[in-house]
Amino acid sequence: MQLRARRERSTPSTVHSGTLARALAVLGGDIERLRGRLKVPRPELDAWLQGTTRPPDGVFLLAVDIIVEAEALEQRRAHRVEITMGHERARCPNCDTTFFSSPVPEGDIKNVTRLSCLACGLSIARGDLMTYLSSDLAKRGAARMIALRRMLAFSQARTQGDTPKAEIPDPTKKVK
Ligand SMILES: [Zn+2]
Repeated sequence: MQLRARRERSTPSTVHSGTLARALAVLGGDIERLRGRLKVPRPELDAWLQGTTRPPDGVFLLAVDIIVEAEALEQRRAHRVEITMGHERARCPNCDTTFFSSPVPEGDIKNVTRLSCLACGLSIARGDLMTYLSSDLAKRGAARMIALRRMLAFSQARTQGDTPKAEIPDPTKKVK
């Protein structure tokens, strides 16, 4: 980057160049990525970053968005936690992820503490997550049991070979 000695028509602004520099940092210092996000030509972006010219408001606001977005993400990642009950980990009801972010350290999480799913951002209280976990467990347990009973009933019918055709294995009935 070369600095321009000559000042151009719009007033340079340290706020504007500083904001663009911050957005650039947020994107890992990748100027092409920033250029792509802002959809602007490279020479103009360079000039704005150097503070020799001032970006249009629309571009400035896009840069602000990039920063705000990154800050929100960082906040969600504040304390990465997993919520467990016994050996089971709670999963996001929305996307099945087991990682959540907490606004407080793991030891300070209360049932009313709102956690955010790290993947989809869903906000859910720890207490609700626990309720969901236990209901999910119950559901899976029952489903497994029914599948097992069906399998047993089916294989018994096959080996005996004399089961009346009309009889369909009843998953609610206990299999010997
Ligand atoms: Zn999720």
